[in-house]
Amino acid sequence: MPATKTSSRKSITSLKVAKKAAKTAIAEKPTAKKAIKSKAEDGVPLSTIIRRRIQAKKAHFHANDNIAQFIEPGDLEGLVDEVAVKMQAVLESLVIDTESDHNTRNTSQRVAKMFVNEVFNGRYVEQPTLTKFPNVSHLNELMIIGPITVRSACSHHLCPIMGRVWIGVLPSKESALIGLSKYSRLTEWVMCRPQIQEEAVVHLADMLEKKIRPVGVAIVMDADHFCMQWRGVKDRDSKMVNSVMRGAFLKDANLRREFLALMDRR
Ligand SMILES: [Zn+2]
Repeated sequence: MPATKTSSRKSITSLKVAKKAAKTAIAEKPTAKKAIKSKAEDGVPLSTIIRRRIQAKKAHFHANDNIAQFIEPGDLEGLVDEVAVKMQAVLESLVIDTESDHNTRNTSQRVAKMFVNEVFNGRYVEQPTLTKFPNVSHLNELMIIGPITVRSACSHHLCPIMGRVWIGVLPSKESALIGLSKYSRLTEWVMCRPQIQEEAVVHLADMLEKKIRPVGVAIVMDADHFCMQWRGVKDRDSKMVNSVMRGAFLKDANLRREFLALMDRR
Protein backbone atom coordinates (compact mmCIF):
# COMPACT_ATOMS: atom_id res chain seq x y z
CA MET A 1 0.00 0.00 0.00
CA PRO A 2 2.61 2.63 0.93
CA ALA A 3 4.27 1.91 -2.39
CA THR A 4 1.10 2.92 -4.24
CA LYS A 5 0.87 6.07 -2.20
CA THR A 6 4.45 7.02 -2.96
CA SER A 7 4.09 6.40 -6.66
CA SER A 8 0.87 8.42 -6.92
CA ARG A 9 2.46 11.28 -4.99
CA LYS A 10 5.43 11.08 -7.31
CA SER A 11 3.28 11.30 -10.40
CA ILE A 12 1.46 14.32 -9.03
CA THR A 13 4.80 15.97 -8.34
CA SER A 14 6.07 15.25 -11.82
CA LEU A 15 2.87 16.64 -13.32
CA LYS A 16 3.39 19.83 -11.34
CA VAL A 17 6.96 19.97 -12.54
CA ALA A 18 5.83 19.51 -16.14
CA LYS A 19 3.28 22.30 -15.80
CA LYS A 20 5.81 24.57 -14.16
CA ALA A 21 8.36 23.88 -16.88
CA ALA A 22 5.74 24.52 -19.53
CA LYS A 23 4.89 27.85 -17.92
CA THR A 24 8.56 28.77 -17.77
CA ALA A 25 8.94 27.81 -21.42
CA ILE A 26 6.11 30.14 -22.41
CA ALA A 27 7.30 32.94 -20.16
CA GLU A 28 10.72 32.88 -21.84
CA LYS A 29 9.30 34.09 -25.13
CA PRO A 30 7.13 37.19 -24.71
CA THR A 31 5.92 37.36 -28.34
CA ALA A 32 4.74 33.77 -28.26
CA LYS A 33 2.68 34.43 -25.17
CA LYS A 34 0.69 36.99 -27.12
CA ALA A 35 0.19 34.61 -30.05
CA ILE A 36 -1.13 31.83 -27.83
CA LYS A 37 -3.49 34.20 -26.07
CA SER A 38 -4.98 35.55 -29.26
CA LYS A 39 -5.34 32.19 -30.94
CA ALA A 40 -6.63 30.04 -28.16
CA GLU A 41 -8.97 32.08 -25.97
CA ASP A 42 -11.33 29.14 -25.56
CA GLY A 43 -8.49 26.76 -24.66
CA VAL A 44 -8.30 25.24 -28.14
CA PRO A 45 -4.67 24.40 -29.01
CA LEU A 46 -3.23 26.44 -31.86
CA SER A 47 -2.41 23.27 -33.81
CA THR A 48 -6.12 22.37 -33.72
CA ILE A 49 -7.06 25.80 -35.04
CA ILE A 50 -4.57 25.46 -37.91
CA ARG A 51 -5.77 21.91 -38.61
CA ARG A 52 -9.35 23.20 -38.88
CA ARG A 53 -8.27 25.83 -41.42
CA ILE A 54 -6.62 23.10 -43.51
CA GLN A 55 -9.60 20.75 -43.28
CA ALA A 56 -12.00 23.55 -44.25
CA LYS A 57 -10.10 23.78 -47.56
CA LYS A 58 -10.03 19.98 -47.85
CA ALA A 59 -6.23 20.06 -48.05
CA HIS A 60 -3.97 17.47 -46.45
CA PHE A 61 -1.20 17.97 -43.97
CA HIS A 62 1.09 14.98 -44.29
CA ALA A 63 4.60 15.26 -42.88
CA ASN A 64 6.06 16.37 -46.21
CA ASP A 65 3.28 18.82 -47.12
CA ASN A 66 3.80 22.55 -47.04
CA ILE A 67 1.03 24.24 -45.03
CA ALA A 68 2.32 27.83 -45.23
CA GLN A 69 -0.95 29.15 -46.68
CA PHE A 70 -2.72 28.20 -43.43
CA ILE A 71 -0.18 29.81 -41.12
CA GLU A 72 -0.95 33.33 -39.87
CA PRO A 73 1.50 35.88 -38.44
CA GLY A 74 2.52 34.87 -34.91
CA ASP A 75 1.47 31.24 -35.37
CA LEU A 76 4.99 29.83 -35.57
CA GLU A 77 5.94 31.30 -32.19
CA GLY A 78 2.72 29.85 -30.80
CA LEU A 79 3.49 26.45 -32.31
CA VAL A 80 6.97 26.47 -30.77
CA ASP A 81 5.38 26.94 -27.36
CA GLU A 82 2.78 24.26 -27.90
CA VAL A 83 5.42 21.76 -29.07
CA ALA A 84 7.66 22.69 -26.11
CA VAL A 85 4.90 21.83 -23.63
CA LYS A 86 4.32 18.45 -25.28
CA MET A 87 8.05 17.79 -25.64
CA GLN A 88 8.42 18.44 -21.92
CA ALA A 89 5.79 15.76 -21.31
CA VAL A 90 7.80 13.34 -23.48
CA LEU A 91 10.92 14.01 -21.40
CA GLU A 92 8.89 13.44 -18.23
CA SER A 93 7.61 10.15 -19.63
CA LEU A 94 11.18 9.15 -20.46
CA VAL A 95 11.85 9.62 -16.72
CA ILE A 96 14.40 12.38 -17.26
CA ASP A 97 14.77 14.77 -14.35
CA THR A 98 14.71 18.07 -16.21
CA GLU A 99 14.58 19.96 -12.91
CA SER A 100 17.96 18.98 -11.50
CA ASP A 101 19.67 17.87 -14.72
CA HIS A 102 20.70 21.27 -16.00
CA ASN A 103 21.56 19.84 -19.44
CA THR A 104 17.93 19.02 -20.09
CA ARG A 105 16.31 21.95 -18.34
CA ASN A 106 15.44 23.81 -21.54
CA THR A 107 15.63 20.86 -23.91
CA SER A 108 11.89 20.88 -24.63
CA GLN A 109 12.06 24.51 -25.75
CA ARG A 110 15.22 23.89 -27.79
CA VAL A 111 13.76 20.85 -29.55
CA ALA A 112 10.52 22.71 -30.29
CA LYS A 113 12.43 25.62 -31.84
CA MET A 114 14.61 23.23 -33.83
CA PHE A 115 11.59 21.40 -35.28
CA VAL A 116 9.50 24.44 -36.15
CA ASN A 117 12.15 27.00 -37.10
CA GLU A 118 14.89 24.81 -38.53
CA VAL A 119 14.68 21.16 -39.49
CA PHE A 120 10.95 21.04 -40.42
CA ASN A 121 10.67 24.68 -41.41
CA GLY A 122 9.95 23.74 -45.05
CA ARG A 123 6.45 22.73 -43.90
CA TYR A 124 5.58 26.15 -42.53
CA VAL A 125 7.15 28.82 -44.76
CA GLU A 126 6.30 29.87 -48.30
CA GLN A 127 8.34 28.64 -51.24
CA PRO A 128 11.40 30.87 -51.74
CA THR A 129 10.75 33.45 -54.43
CA LEU A 130 12.48 32.68 -57.69
CA THR A 131 13.74 35.30 -60.04
CA LYS A 132 13.35 33.92 -63.52
CA PHE A 133 15.47 35.07 -66.41
CA PRO A 134 14.34 34.70 -69.99
CA ASN A 135 16.65 32.35 -71.86
CA VAL A 136 18.04 35.18 -74.03
CA SER A 137 20.96 33.29 -75.47
CA HIS A 138 18.68 30.31 -76.13
CA LEU A 139 20.81 27.92 -74.11
CA ASN A 140 19.90 24.35 -74.77
CA GLU A 141 22.91 22.58 -73.36
CA LEU A 142 23.03 20.31 -70.34
CA MET A 143 23.47 22.14 -67.01
CA ILE A 144 24.47 20.30 -63.85
CA ILE A 145 24.07 21.82 -60.40
CA GLY A 146 25.56 20.08 -57.39
CA PRO A 147 26.42 18.62 -55.10
CA ILE A 148 23.84 20.48 -53.02
CA THR A 149 23.99 19.54 -49.33
CA VAL A 150 20.77 18.00 -48.12
CA ARG A 151 19.51 17.77 -44.54
CA SER A 152 16.24 16.07 -43.97
CA ALA A 153 14.60 13.56 -41.63
CA CYS A 154 12.76 10.32 -42.16
CA SER A 155 9.06 10.50 -41.42
CA HIS A 156 9.13 7.07 -39.78
CA HIS A 157 11.53 7.83 -36.92
CA LEU A 158 12.35 11.52 -37.36
CA CYS A 159 16.00 10.46 -37.71
CA PRO A 160 18.29 12.69 -39.79
CA ILE A 161 18.93 12.05 -43.47
CA MET A 162 22.16 13.73 -44.55
CA GLY A 163 23.14 13.71 -48.15
CA ARG A 164 23.80 15.38 -51.47
CA VAL A 165 21.72 16.16 -54.51
CA TRP A 166 22.70 16.74 -58.12
CA ILE A 167 20.31 18.37 -60.54
CA GLY A 168 20.60 18.15 -64.30
CA VAL A 169 18.57 20.49 -66.47
CA LEU A 170 18.25 20.53 -70.22
CA PRO A 171 16.54 23.85 -70.92
CA SER A 172 14.58 24.52 -74.05
CA LYS A 173 15.15 27.75 -75.97
CA GLU A 174 11.91 29.00 -74.40
CA SER A 175 12.64 27.90 -70.81
CA ALA A 176 12.77 30.40 -68.00
CA LEU A 177 16.08 30.08 -66.19
CA ILE A 178 16.55 30.53 -62.45
CA GLY A 179 19.69 31.68 -60.67
CA LEU A 180 22.06 28.94 -59.52
CA SER A 181 21.62 29.69 -55.82
CA LYS A 182 17.87 29.17 -56.22
CA TYR A 183 18.39 25.47 -56.86
CA SER A 184 19.90 25.19 -53.37
CA ARG A 185 17.12 27.27 -51.81
CA LEU A 186 14.38 25.18 -53.44
CA THR A 187 16.12 21.95 -52.46
CA GLU A 188 16.44 23.10 -48.87
CA TRP A 189 12.78 24.13 -48.76
CA VAL A 190 11.68 20.69 -49.97
CA MET A 191 14.09 18.77 -47.76
CA CYS A 192 13.35 20.56 -44.47
CA ARG A 193 10.38 18.28 -43.78
CA PRO A 194 10.01 14.76 -42.44
CA GLN A 195 9.75 12.48 -45.46
CA ILE A 196 11.13 9.53 -47.34
CA GLN A 197 13.91 10.01 -49.88
CA GLU A 198 12.02 8.50 -52.82
CA GLU A 199 9.21 11.04 -52.44
CA ALA A 200 11.55 13.95 -51.80
CA VAL A 201 13.34 13.64 -55.15
CA VAL A 202 10.07 13.24 -57.05
CA HIS A 203 8.69 16.33 -55.33
CA LEU A 204 11.81 18.31 -56.24
CA ALA A 205 11.64 17.16 -59.86
CA ASP A 206 7.94 18.11 -60.12
CA MET A 207 8.67 21.58 -58.82
CA LEU A 208 11.59 22.19 -61.17
CA GLU A 209 9.57 20.99 -64.16
CA LYS A 210 6.79 23.38 -63.26
CA LYS A 211 9.11 26.35 -62.70
CA ILE A 212 11.56 25.99 -65.56
CA ARG A 213 9.60 24.00 -68.14
CA PRO A 214 12.78 22.32 -69.37
CA VAL A 215 13.11 19.65 -72.06
CA GLY A 216 14.40 17.37 -69.35
CA VAL A 217 15.25 17.29 -65.68
CA ALA A 218 17.32 14.73 -63.79
CA ILE A 219 17.94 14.41 -60.08
CA VAL A 220 20.26 12.11 -58.18
CA MET A 221 20.30 12.01 -54.39
CA ASP A 222 22.67 10.02 -52.24
CA ALA A 223 22.22 10.09 -48.50
CA ASP A 224 23.08 8.58 -45.16
CA HIS A 225 20.03 7.48 -43.27
CA PHE A 226 20.52 7.73 -39.54
CA CYS A 227 17.62 5.39 -38.96
CA MET A 228 19.89 2.67 -40.34
CA GLN A 229 23.07 3.90 -38.64
CA TRP A 230 21.94 5.11 -35.23
CA ARG A 231 19.22 2.50 -34.72
CA GLY A 232 17.82 -0.55 -36.54
CA VAL A 233 20.50 -2.52 -38.37
CA LYS A 234 23.21 -0.05 -37.22
CA ASP A 235 24.97 -0.34 -40.52
CA ARG A 236 27.29 2.64 -40.65
CA ASP A 237 28.12 2.40 -44.30
CA SER A 238 24.70 1.95 -45.82
CA LYS A 239 23.64 4.71 -48.13
CA MET A 240 20.66 5.21 -50.32
CA VAL A 241 20.99 6.51 -53.84
CA ASN A 242 18.05 7.23 -56.05
CA SER A 243 17.34 9.14 -59.17
CA VAL A 244 14.52 10.67 -61.13
CA MET A 245 14.82 11.15 -64.89
CA ARG A 246 12.23 13.17 -66.77
CA GLY A 247 11.70 14.15 -70.39
CA ALA A 248 14.84 14.07 -72.49
CA PHE A 249 16.79 12.30 -69.72
CA LEU A 250 14.34 9.45 -69.91
CA LYS A 251 14.30 9.16 -73.69
CA ASP A 252 17.93 9.90 -74.53
CA ALA A 253 20.41 7.36 -73.13
CA ASN A 254 23.38 9.49 -74.24
CA LEU A 255 22.16 12.52 -72.36
CA ARG A 256 21.57 10.40 -69.29
CA ARG A 257 25.07 8.95 -69.54
CA GLU A 258 26.57 12.40 -69.96
CA PHE A 259 24.81 13.65 -66.83
CA LEU A 260 25.83 10.64 -64.75
CA ALA A 261 29.42 10.86 -65.98
CA LEU A 262 29.76 14.60 -65.29
CA MET A 263 28.26 14.69 -61.83
CA ASP A 264 31.08 14.35 -59.38
CA ARG A 265 30.17 11.79 -56.73
CA ARG A 266 33.48 11.73 -54.88
ZN1 LIG B 1 13.44 5.97 -40.29
